[in-house]
Amino acid sequence: MPDHIEHAQRLLAQLRFPCGDAPPSGEIKQVAPGIHWLRMPLPFQLNHINLYLLEEADGWTIVDTGMQLDETKAHWEHIFATHLKGKPVKAVLSTHMHPDHVGLAGWLCARWKAPLHMSLGDYMSAQSIRNGLVDDNESRAAHLRRGGVPEEKVATFHLHRGGYSKGVGPLPAAFNRIMHGDRVSLGGHRWQVIVGRGHAPEHVSLWCADLNVLISGDQVLPKISTNVGVWPNEPMADALTWFLTGFVRFRRLPADALVLPSHGFPFVGLHTRLDQLVAHHEARLAEMLAAIVGYGDKGATCWQMVPVLFARHLDNNQVVFAFGETLAHLHCLETRGLVRRTTTAEGVHHFVAVPLTDTVAPAEDAVEVMDVA
Ligand SMILES: [Zn+2]
Repeated sequence: MPDHIEHAQRLLAQLRFPCGDAPPSGEIKQVAPGIHWLRMPLPFQLNHINLYLLEEADGWTIVDTGMQLDETKAHWEHIFATHLKGKPVKAVLSTHMHPDHVGLAGWLCARWKAPLHMSLGDYMSAQSIRNGLVDDNESRAAHLRRGGVPEEKVATFHLHRGGYSKGVGPLPAAFNRIMHGDRVSLGGHRWQVIVGRGHAPEHVSLWCADLNVLISGDQVLPKISTNVGVWPNEPMADALTWFLTGFVRFRRLPADALVLPSHGFPFVGLHTRLDQLVAHHEARLAEMLAAIVGYGDKGATCWQMVPVLFARHLDNNQVVFAFGETLAHLHCLETRGLVRRTTTAEGVHHFVAVPLTDTVAPAEDAVEVMDVA
């Protein structure tokens, strides 16, 4: 068995998966009192998303919507016809702006005359990307050129973005804002909103102390590591630092909480999984720094570092994600004072290793003190 598969299986074996098999699309499965798990298809290598239905005495809340696909709408209609016990959907909540989480929000809200609940950052980002206000071809091309992508490849790659409005239908023109630390009442229980950054602008996870349940969204996944990328509309984002420092908000939760993620299986072992993810990113940062040292005083571009993190063959769509994730690691090294950025006359960014004697330790303690949940 290849090393990386054996490693992945060893990590999975450290978690518990108490909810058994996934329900088939169009069916639901209760995983905690009043909380039902359902799955919808996705047309990618990652072929499913988990959604959750929260039951109240007089109605239901939908957490995440699935992508805008006819197949998904048909599964929803089947669920509405067979599983709602005659009660209406009262609210739709999207954890974040990605198409699989918000794609059918407009359709569901109109279908049930229900309000949409989201963070401000993700609602506004979804609206502006969907309506072509940000992340246009020009800014995408500039982003790739700064990262050292050869000119002949720039057009190929940047045209592979832009499917957002295919997967996301028109969103409601108004929404209800939820913020970090808010306490919201869903399914007859109180839930605390935990905002995470790095994967999406203001990703919402939901924690219920009464039930010992965390709806983690994409922020904590059991098997795959969450995509943490730097995108053309925010090219200097320090996404990986934001993602990792946000873990402090989850470490405060009980180690035996049931975690309901957006992909994979519900699991127990939150702290173990956070440790695994930190180890994963730290190992990649170390590999990248070692590779940059090899480039000497000239330093390396983001494009040169992509194969360091992603040794396998990538298709054009995957390359765009890999580029963003590589840049997130470079920005994290820069924030830690381990590399510095230089810019060529053509505007290409190179990252040069800083001699160890010049480096400063990251200010992790400061982040902990500032973070009030
Ligand atoms: Zn996502």
